[in-house]
Amino acid sequence: MFKKKYAVFTMDVETFGDTECIANHTQSVNVDLMDGFDEYIRILDKHGIKSTLFTVGALAPKIIDRLKSCINNGHKLALHSYKHIAPMDVDEDTFRKEIQKSKRLLKELFNTDIIGFRAPYFSLDDNRLNILKELGFKYDSSHLDFLKARHTVALNLKGFKECSKDIFRNGDFFEFGLSKHKIFGNPYPISGGGYIRLAPWNFIKNIIKQYLKENDYYVFYLHPFELTTQKVPILKGLKPYDQYYLQYGITSYGKHIEQLIILLKNQGYSFVTFEELLEIIHKNSR
Ligand SMILES: [Zn+2]
Repeated sequence: MFKKKYAVFTMDVETFGDTECIANHTQSVNVDLMDGFDEYIRILDKHGIKSTLFTVGALAPKIIDRLKSCINNGHKLALHSYKHIAPMDVDEDTFRKEIQKSKRLLKELFNTDIIGFRAPYFSLDDNRLNILKELGFKYDSSHLDFLKARHTVALNLKGFKECSKDIFRNGDFFEFGLSKHKIFGNPYPISGGGYIRLAPWNFIKNIIKQYLKENDYYVFYLHPFELTTQKVPILKGLKPYDQYYLQYGITSYGKHIEQLIILLKNQGYSFVTFEELLEIIHKNSR
């Protein structure tokens, strides 16, 4: 579909305490590990990349200076719910009210229109997607389509047409899916977060390289804690997998992200925000 290849770097801007296994844990944590946010921006600035920052509404006032400086520097703000509760865990009316409230709050704080959404835990269905559309959003990016992920509800995307691999359109509203590639015959997310961090780097790098050769759109996402330079607290009573998810690969992730950026550059990808990609799609379809 595209004349060029595009990569979109994103972050789900939330605290360490918003991570699912921590949020559901009886022991509270007193660190937010938001230094990982600063590290992410430092890496992107070094490579001249602008990111879309899907931010938890209730967190935004607490990190207002960080976000304002990013926006002034060309990064784009989008919404990642009000309090990081899975949309499918609340009824549709509550979802609508929370999203309306957050959209208004971010507009007031940053004087910028919020047109993009990503659901916590990629937990979204078609009805809630329609609510986003009704509230004036122009795109969503929650289509992970990987049922092995906890909480994930596969969007059916009824009424949408796939206009390019993993990009779906319904009128002027877009669903930007997360990138996946087949590993041993099964689709596996290669779009970041734990999916890249926990995998053996040389193995996943080659899978991504193959994907990049064959496609023209790639999405990367991660969370602030994944780039922290602080010690990630060990919580008693967590399941071994959760402990592993919170600890493994943190110290080398920044290095691997830079290698991924170089890989993308070598494969001819241009880095855009979702907001810029929307403009490119509209321009191409004129
Ligand atoms: Zn999240």
